[in-house]
Amino acid sequence: MSKQVRVRFAPSPTGALHIGGVRTALFNYLFAKKHNGVFYLRIEDTDQTRFVPGAEAYIMEALEWLGISPEETVGKNEKFGPYRQSERKELYKKYADELINSGWAYYAFDTPEALDALRKEYEAEKKTFIYNHTNREKLDTSLVISTDEVSKRIANGEHYVIRFKTPVNETLHLKDIIRGDVSFETNLLDDKVLFKSDGMPTYHLANIVDDHLMETSHVIRGEEWLPSMPLHVLLYRAFGWDAPEFAHLPLILKPSGKGKLSKRDGEVGGFPVFPLDWKDLKGFKGDGYLPEALVNFLSMIGWNDGTEREYFSLEELCQSFDLSRVHKAGARFDIDKAKSVNHHY
Ligand code: GLU
Repeated sequence: MSKQVRVRFAPSPTGALHIGGVRTALFNYLFAKKHNGVFYLRIEDTDQTRFVPGAEAYIMEALEWLGISPEETVGKNEKFGPYRQSERKELYKKYADELINSGWAYYAFDTPEALDALRKEYEAEKKTFIYNHTNREKLDTSLVISTDEVSKRIANGEHYVIRFKTPVNETLHLKDIIRGDVSFETNLLDDKVLFKSDGMPTYHLANIVDDHLMETSHVIRGEEWLPSMPLHVLLYRAFGWDAPEFAHLPLILKPSGKGKLSKRDGEVGGFPVFPLDWKDLKGFKGDGYLPEALVNFLSMIGWNDGTEREYFSLEELCQSFDLSRVHKAGARFDIDKAKSVNHHY
């Protein structure tokens, strides 16, 4: 690996850690250790409506209990931090303005009612509404009104959002370490919201600005974020920055193999989908699971070292872990293994 490996776990503090989130943290940790890199924790708390007090402390405790504490976290690194996005608000506005000035973003004033009406028009014709160039004339944006008018409306306190101006008619050919070659048609992408007039960036803008400024070398995250990859790559391009490498981890499937394991599953065969109980970590410890067992079990969801070997210590995992051995296909949650792994420790 030529550049310094810096990877992050970037949860939104919205509650307990789902098993998929814990696995994401673990794989980032293992990858950092394997390559003598740095594993840091970034709290993505720009969506204040979903903020849950205490969630950040719980996440830190959970990682510590598992033995995979990040080296850098809130208050621990002056060069890159703070690692709470809500404390970096002013910074994101500057970058949103930069995109407006370079023509990569624009103001949009559409009301929720107007957008609903447009969506209904499309539904009536059995078509899907995409907020992009295909509807330019119907949308209330700075791309179709004069600059004076835009300034006036903003000065009058009208609500607006800043949206990304997705390039038209392009096929993006991208590389993902786990999935290989992936391609996306830009015409099928929405012009996503990057910033809101309440002064808050959305996940997309804050995430890529921070990954750039914090020198993230690899973005390792759940597959549910794969559809965001084209936008993120385009944002790096718009800013003139090199994009990090991406690795999207396979979904965790129900034990039947049918469908994604979800919060609604609550528990599978006595094994909680929230293995680190929100109420108190002791609740989980009380169930008799040991951190070493959980780490071992999680590491095997969608990964193996190429042999039949099933039991590894955390240290051994740090040596053996290899992103190129993470499977592409969804990984079935194996209840028997979940139950048996604890007995090994
Ligand atoms: N804040 C996002 C989450 O809650 C992070 C996704 C990413 O790693 O880019 O999962």
